Amino acid sequence: MHPPFVGMYLCGPTVYGDAHLGHARPAVTFDVVFRYLTYLGYKVRYIRNITDVGHLENDADEGEDKIEKKARLDKVEPMEIVQRYTIDYHRNMRQLNVKPPSIEPRASGHIIEQIFMIEKIIEHGYAYISEGSVYFDVKRFEKDYPYGELSGRVTEDLQHNTRALDGQSEKRNPLDFALWKKASPEHIMHWPSPWSEGFPGWHIECSAMSAKYLGETFDIHGGGMDLLFPHHECEIAQSLGANGKQPVRYWMHNNMLTINGQKMGKSLNNFITLDELFSGNHHLLEKPYSAMALRFCMLQSQYRNPIDFSNKGLQDAEKAYQKLSEIYLLLKEMNWSGTSIDPDMEKALSSFEKECLDAMNDDINTAIVISNMFKVSSYVNTFYASGKTEGVSKETFEKFKNTFSIFFTELLGLLPEEGNKNNDEDFGKLVDSLLDLRNEAKKKKDFSLADSIRNILSKFVVLQDSADKTIWKYERKK
Ligand code: ZN
Repeated sequence: MHPPFVGMYLCGPTVYGDAHLGHARPAVTFDVVFRYLTYLGYKVRYIRNITDVGHLENDADEGEDKIEKKARLDKVEPMEIVQRYTIDYHRNMRQLNVKPPSIEPRASGHIIEQIFMIEKIIEHGYAYISEGSVYFDVKRFEKDYPYGELSGRVTEDLQHNTRALDGQSEKRNPLDFALWKKASPEHIMHWPSPWSEGFPGWHIECSAMSAKYLGETFDIHGGGMDLLFPHHECEIAQSLGANGKQPVRYWMHNNMLTINGQKMGKSLNNFITLDELFSGNHHLLEKPYSAMALRFCMLQSQYRNPIDFSNKGLQDAEKAYQKLSEIYLLLKEMNWSGTSIDPDMEKALSSFEKECLDAMNDDINTAIVISNMFKVSSYVNTFYASGKTEGVSKETFEKFKNTFSIFFTELLGLLPEEGNKNNDEDFGKLVDSLLDLRNEAKKKKDFSLADSIRNILSKFVVLQDSADKTIWKYERKK
């Protein structure tokens, strides 16, 4: 018998900058969903795309392409930006023990599929051509299907709140969104199409790629809550417009994260990249935090709840994670030996698996799974202290030990602290100490020593000197 199939799609990153905390949460959340469904015996095809074209500034239909802008500033080809940040993203994902998806398609590699889908939408009357661009006709669509159902938005309110922006005159209605944009002369990434030399709108890539790899209707679509509107609402409209079918059976949206109670944003100066978190090299961080501490910190909340990051929160998570790690390692080395059965203990340990599965089945409640693991940890400590597993039957003990291990490593995807001795943290401390030495040397006007320290460090990290301080970043692996 073939295992039942599950198709799952996650909107992946737009690769124009370092991966940050906001990227980590959806990646870890859907990694756990991927792991859990696989564990249950489903054959999961997990698609996580890379957006490398069409995502314009401010998520709008006008403005510069985010990747082109970065390429212009760095004076490189747009695809060099894509390559650099995709490699970095993958490195960060490995640090977080996030499994690679089954397929990682790129928007620029699926231009033909996007053009075909747009043609179908035009054929069905839900899109129109204007000045070489193609726009989705929301008013026309609404005559046949509801628009705004997923996000609970009402088009009249939206209409009211949408300002008429420059350049929107091409649209019949401000709510309409771009499926294809005619490229302006300075635009670098463009392709031929029936309508113009241009590029796809941001939303169409996910509709086209999910349909290509998972079919016109598939099981699970994930993403951050910030993508609910307009991105996912537009995906639904495009699929209905092209195929007449709802594309997704279950939408799963992870909640957002804040830093010390504030929304994370470059303008607020509280934007933390993953490399900064792992090295501690950020003005808001008291110390480096390991990738596993971050992963654990996120899993301590059910994915639909918001998370606030603070040094205190991260340090608490780090301690809790180390404790649980210890329990896992102690248990791993334990063998059953006992003479009697304590009914309470027998009950607690034999119901452990069911309680954890129940929590996972209740909308992937990893918070409850972790609290269940802490609940049973006192038994493990008692076993360890007494040197025997007194009070539990052999069968229950073996099953409990196995379940604990599967949940810790395979389903939550945690690496025990021992095997994950945090090199990043040690390395960060080493760099900081060498920089201190270099500053001392500079103060003493021993410039040759200062320079040789700099030369040594430059082999491993990128240093940026400013008037009052030196900041460093991990070197990009060539
Ligand atoms: Zn998407």
